[in-house]
Amino acid sequence: WLMTLNSPLLEIKDLQVSINNNEILKKLNLIVNKGEIHAIMGPNGSGKSTFSKVLAGHPAYSVLDGDIIFKGSSILDLDPEERSHLGIFLACQYPIEIPGVSNEDFLRIAYNSKQIFYNKPEVDPIEFLTIINEKLKMVQMSTLFLSRNVNEGFSGGEKKRNEILQMILLDSDLSILDETDSGLDIDALKTISNGINNFMSPNKSIILITHYQRLLDYINPNYVHVMQNGKIIKTGSADLAKELETKGYEWLQK
Ligand code: ADP
Ligand code: MG
Repeated sequence: WLMTLNSPLLEIKDLQVSINNNEILKKLNLIVNKGEIHAIMGPNGSGKSTFSKVLAGHPAYSVLDGDIIFKGSSILDLDPEERSHLGIFLACQYPIEIPGVSNEDFLRIAYNSKQIFYNKPEVDPIEFLTIINEKLKMVQMSTLFLSRNVNEGFSGGEKKRNEILQMILLDSDLSILDETDSGLDIDALKTISNGINNFMSPNKSIILITHYQRLLDYINPNYVHVMQNGKIIKTGSADLAKELETKGYEWLQK
């Protein structure tokens, strides 16, 4: 029966990463199994966003040592598109605006490029509307957001909803949400949390990067990690987030 046990969805081994000759991640280790939600907390500048961008394949970062194993194989040589097709999704801390590209076209082209990768038929704009309307409901977004340009003039909360919409549409296996809760009012936080919880399944995994315990009142993580100075210095259960809320990070330092 041992043979039937799942191998981890994601395995980060002694990951060392630099940007502009600055070492940011220093032997980071993390294992994420299917069906798990991991929260990563930690002070500003500890390397959380760097970690998320390196997972997605951002070209500005150099991996000096270590490995990223996804679904059993190293993805270090894969470009961001290939990683996305394999099931990795990054909701950015600061979603960019893309003037001149309608959200609807952007979403359909992203969806279809994954269809093509898996030798599945592309959907036409009419079929796509049926698909996307279903997903819009999950994040309580109006169809008006389809005809607007990607994130252009969207409020902070609307940009975050749009990121979650992409995650749901692409049906990613591993989603990294970098401070998706930051700047949300309480209603938007509830809506987005509901969308994430409804999307979550035993086959999927989520890494939530957050500063706030309040997100974890709505989304229950299996593990809470503290990242500091480019590595994970403590791992605990959801209770650890509550402890951090009252005690801060300083007590964790040696
Ligand atoms: P966090 O998301 O935990 O707040 P980041 O991953 O954004 O942290 O940043 C980690 C460190 O990497 C910070 O000290 C930041 O200044 C540094 N850093 C990020 N981008 C660059 C860059 N282009 N050049 C040099 N240092 C950078
Ligand atoms: Mg960050």
